[in-house]
Formats: sequence, structure tokens, C-alpha cells
Amino acid sequence: MKANLAQLLAQASADHSHLCPRQVLGVRIGLAGAAVLGLEAPRRDKRLLVILETDGCFADGVEAATGCAAGHRTLRIEDYGKIAATFVDVQTEDALRVAPRLDVRQRAYAYAPDETRHYFAQLRAYRVMPDEELLTIQPVQLAQPVAEIVSRPGVRVNCASCGEEIINEREVIADGQALCRSCAHGGYYASTILLPAPLVEAQYAWASLDT
Ligand SMILES: [Zn+2]
Ligand SMILES: [Zn+2]
Repeated sequence: MKANLAQLLAQASADHSHLCPRQVLGVRIGLAGAAVLGLEAPRRDKRLLVILETDGCFADGVEAATGCAAGHRTLRIEDYGKIAATFVDVQTEDALRVAPRLDVRQRAYAYAPDETRHYFAQLRAYRVMPDEELLTIQPVQLAQPVAEIVSRPGVRVNCASCGEEIINEREVIADGQALCRSCAHGGYYASTILLPAPLVEAQYAWASLDT
């Protein structure tokens, strides 16, 4: 497992200038989640679905360990700002949530006794701590059926309000009409102005001159 861990850590940090404790936790949590479900990892198929509770360095570690990725539709983010992830076997619908133990930072010092700098103590310790010292693993029930979370790719419908196409069954039905989530509930953006296309292109030209 050690060589495997080193390879995965190298892969997780390949696009970064650093290897940090959160990437190590991501790799360890990814390996543990797949192993407890009895699934080999990293994998190329869609049997394992990972739901992350934050983005950033932790996500890089989990991706390297599991092979799951947003582009494969095998990884999604529910952004709670927490270092934790749920691993779902989409065949059996078994789901496990894996997180660091609450006192993991204190426990780390025992595994790097001669390191006084917190960051480097964690970086070293998280590589070698046994799973039971490092992690909590809890079986969970998902709030939505797995089939709904995964959804059927290729399904398309147009929003009855804005007219934009909605894919992957993400529409909301209200009064018998299919709406996008933004029109149905309000979204993450607000705009009352629709720029004409030539103006948008001009802005992109400016942006690319700057960089
Ligand atoms: Zn980092
Ligand atoms: Zn809409």
C-alpha cells in the first residue's frame, strides 16, 4: 500500500506547487471509502460515486485515489466547506461517509514526534496513521435515490421560462411546466440585462488582450 500511496500523492500534487495535508487526507479518505465498500480504486468505470463536501486540495486527493471526476459524472460537490466525502456503490446503493476524526490534529503529533511545525507534522503523520486513528467511517442513507442523483444523461428539456436547455433531468416541474432551477427557485446569479452577442465578443477580446 505504501508505494501505491506515494504514487497517488505524487499524482494529486502534480498540478500544484505543493503537497499539503489536505491532499494527503483526500487520498487516504478516497482509498478508505472505496476499500470499505469493497471496490477497487482508482477505477475507470462509473460504479463508484463520490460526493465531496468541499473543493480544493482535498478534492485533488480524492480524485487521484478513486479515479472519480466531475467529467466522468462520478464526482459531485455539495459544498458544506467540510473535509469529508460520501462514497456510494451505485450497484448496491451502499453509502459510507468518511471524515477525519475530530481530534486528528492532536493525534498526528504522536506520528511525527520530532516535528514541531503543525503543518509538517500533519503532512507526515497523515501518510502513516492507521485508518482507525485517522478517520471516522459511518454508513449513511442518502436523502435522494441514487438513480436521481446520478440521473439519466442525454435527457433534454427546454425551460418554460428562460428557454434554455436543461440536461440530465435537472428540471423542476411547477404547475405542470418544466423550469430550470434558476427560474424555479432563484439561482446563484441575478441579471436583468441580456447583452447582445457582438458586445459579449468584444468583452472577450478585451479580456484576452489583458492576459
Ligand atoms: Zn494544498
Ligand atoms: Zn429557466
